[in-house]
Amino acid sequence: MARFTGKVALVTGSSNGIGRAAAILFALDGAKVTITGRNAQRLEETRQEILKSGIPESHVLAVACDLGSEQGQDELINSTIKSFGRLDILVNNAGAAFTDSQGRTGLDQDVSDYDKVMHINMRSVITLTQKAKKYLIETKGEIVNVSSVAAGPQAHVDMMYYGMSKAALDNFTRCAAIDLIQHGVRVNSVSPGGVTTGFGEAMGLPVGGFDNLWHFMESRKECLPCGKIGQPEDIANIILFLADRELSFYIIGQSIVADGGSTLVMGVQAHDMKTLMGM
Ligand code: NDP
Repeated sequence: MARFTGKVALVTGSSNGIGRAAAILFALDGAKVTITGRNAQRLEETRQEILKSGIPESHVLAVACDLGSEQGQDELINSTIKSFGRLDILVNNAGAAFTDSQGRTGLDQDVSDYDKVMHINMRSVITLTQKAKKYLIETKGEIVNVSSVAAGPQAHVDMMYYGMSKAALDNFTRCAAIDLIQHGVRVNSVSPGGVTTGFGEAMGLPVGGFDNLWHFMESRKECLPCGKIGQPEDIANIILFLADRELSFYIIGQSIVADGGSTLVMGVQAHDMKTLMGM
């Protein structure tokens, strides 16, 4: 039997990138999945990817909504419970970064970008988790958050507010883990390094901006010791591991770093990342 048979997984940000890969793997491994994002067309692409593997339509619920709104979050949770009757796994994967319209970074970046990034990367995680809590307690479920190596301890000045939001998320993971384990719910997180997804374009970089950075890193051991940038499935497999109680039951409130060794050397910080990304 597939390992998530009988379970229901809600994966935020599954209209693209890491979330899409995780939703597909959960469905292939027996789970019923709720997929979500704002972009209805990309969401449908995820749904079709799942169905084309022979998964029945009744195992996939697509909900197009803005996670930044509590109304959207209510719709997401309520329609999942209405369709599937339970919730076992919540993956808080949706996230974003914002570039300053005038190219400013560090302390010069407009503080309105801080508000936006904290809203989607942190506040929406808190409120969605609050709304999911009672259902996860009923199933003694799992929460997996998607953080980033930008959380530190290194300084990521070019994406300062984004890094701050992920550092906050790491602390949320630890506190929520201790708060919820008394009810049998586990909370953990994965911290990716560079991964080929739609993230660069979503944050307003020119097309290929992140790819340039990734190619640059791949060719330099001081930037990426393993020599190959991550793919969404590399992170999705860790998400499934952390959602699989049989395999990872003893891990509570931790974040697994998956970055090809980059944060052990962090040589990329010595290069002009802004120019490479076209910022
Ligand atoms: P993508 O841009 O490919 O995917 C981001 C997903 O989040 C999309 O499905 C997007 O959906 C969704 N999303 C963003 N904002 C909202 C919103 N307001 N409401 C609903 N959905 C939203 O990027 P990734 O797959 O790379 O990002 C996934 C996670 O991985 C993020 O938390 C990111 O911070 C993290 N990460 C990524 C790294 C990388 O190198 N790619 C490195 C480290 C961490 P839609 O556009 O349809 O709304």
